[in-house]
Amino acid sequence: MPASATTSRVLHVDLATGASRVIQFEGRPLHLGGSGLAAALYEAYGLPGAPAEDPRQPLIFAIGPLTGYYPLMSKVVCGFRSPYNGQWAESHAGGRLALALRFAGYDALMITGAARTLSCLVVGSRRLEVHDVHYLRGQDVFVTGKYLRRFGKDSSGHRSTVRIGPAGEKGVAFACANVDSFRHFGRLGAGAVMGAKNLKGIVVLGDGGAALPEGKDYPKLFRDIYGAVTGTDMMQKYHDLGTAENLSVLNELKALPWRNLQATTDPAIDGISGERFAEQLLLRQTACAGCPVGCIHIGLLRQQFARDHEFLYKQVSYDYEPIFAQGSMLGLTNASDVLALLDDTEKLGLDCMSAGVALAWATEALERGVITEAETLAPLAFGNVATYMTGLHHLANGANEFWRTLGRGTPSATDAYGGREFSCVLGQEMAGYATGEVFFVAQALGFRHSHLDSGGYSFDQSVPPREPGTFRTPEEITADVNKAVAFLADDEQKRIAINCMVACLFSRKAYSMPRLQEALAAIGCRAEADGMPDALRTVQAARWRLKLQTGYRPEEVTIPKRFTEIVTWKGPIDTAYMEALRLAYVDAIRRMADAPAPAAG
Ligand code: SF4
Repeated sequence: MPASATTSRVLHVDLATGASRVIQFEGRPLHLGGSGLAAALYEAYGLPGAPAEDPRQPLIFAIGPLTGYYPLMSKVVCGFRSPYNGQWAESHAGGRLALALRFAGYDALMITGAARTLSCLVVGSRRLEVHDVHYLRGQDVFVTGKYLRRFGKDSSGHRSTVRIGPAGEKGVAFACANVDSFRHFGRLGAGAVMGAKNLKGIVVLGDGGAALPEGKDYPKLFRDIYGAVTGTDMMQKYHDLGTAENLSVLNELKALPWRNLQATTDPAIDGISGERFAEQLLLRQTACAGCPVGCIHIGLLRQQFARDHEFLYKQVSYDYEPIFAQGSMLGLTNASDVLALLDDTEKLGLDCMSAGVALAWATEALERGVITEAETLAPLAFGNVATYMTGLHHLANGANEFWRTLGRGTPSATDAYGGREFSCVLGQEMAGYATGEVFFVAQALGFRHSHLDSGGYSFDQSVPPREPGTFRTPEEITADVNKAVAFLADDEQKRIAINCMVACLFSRKAYSMPRLQEALAAIGCRAEADGMPDALRTVQAARWRLKLQTGYRPEEVTIPKRFTEIVTWKGPIDTAYMEALRLAYVDAIRRMADAPAPAAG
């Protein structure tokens, strides 16, 4: 591992020609790694003038300089032009991929071009193979995973498998790329980008070595960090009930979206609460490679497949977001029903959040007569799991014009059929936080349109409720908008630090900026440590610039009416405040994109 080098080692594979090369990519002190490295690679090799579906567009998987050296440095940034909105996008995933890339000896894998037949790319420290896997066309994620795991079976070390299901092959704009078991590059269509490249799977063989840093600083710091994440209660909640514990909390706060956000709380929460999953269905917790926490909760799904008490047992992972999107949002109140739906979503290779929220919109559209069963081909109904099973398959396979349109994203469906006012879209299908104005603006305008861009939902929760029936004065709006925008920009930068390394975002408390600088210095990356504050501003500007260059127009992003109609524990939404915040955040994004690069030196 070139810990003290200032270059990143990038493996570039062109599927169109079969050619490959290793690039020593300059400038690591300025882009750091992960999110910054992916953006810098796209700036150097991307085609901002060509559409997202163009197979020549790079698909980039990047790790950070700390990957493999410290606990919870377990994630990979996938950078690509999104088929959902055409813009520069990122999706992050754990599993074994980060460590496999580290031990294969690469800071990033960049794939361009399309293979002639459906293929699987196998890369290791001394291997590069492209296998024809045309026989896997149409196969689901589980069957595909089983076949692809045969590649590189003879190699040692961490082995990781990324693959797509039918949704990715069909180009569904929110098809995900599944990583190993239970992890995903979920949002914004990385799976469809693989599909456009005729790439059914990627196997990364971590078959090389990585020398440990010399000196006393590194082992001492490792022990300190390990002790903090395992010996204190810092990460306990992620292992215990996991993020699913938020279901009851948000339901209590009237901030949990139910039935396409027609309500924000429901007494039936007990059927799908984190406690219910833990007490009745939890089998075990597991972890990404390099993580001592283990927040991945695996539930037991028992399904009857024939008469006379014939049952099949399956293991299905669950979390807060999937339970919201395919539980409360669809009016499902039985935990096993939610697991059954999640299992099918996983198999088909769909992003569970976008798929659930899109189905919720389709259900209300059907209820209101905006569309009919001639379009949906199934009597979608809140609370009816069987209709959603059918809907998921139609969505992944593009069963007719309606499902193909919905598969391009809910905004495409509302453009074609109407019903935008009740679509739960904030840049993309919403995440599960009906917490108020700051979260709605943050997700609608944010870089990834994700609840992970910033803690907008926690900012909402930190602001005390007002007297019932009162709204902010113009002066209060100005003051609160300034506070919220400053928080969003600052919090985004802190998260960029984590995303450049590429740590799990759950470890934010363990990895403050000074701690990350210490960690870099202890493995010999002194230039990256010293230059980190400047580098973060550079990366923040570069990411926004790329998003703008690839078609993002923040001023055109609006928030559908449904979000103005809800009532949370704080009362009704303050629409004047939300609109002022939206305009101010647009200005802030333009300013962040224009930030001058720090002087070289
Ligand atoms: S806390 Fe969970 S998501 Fe994060 S690295 Fe550990 S197992 Fe993976």
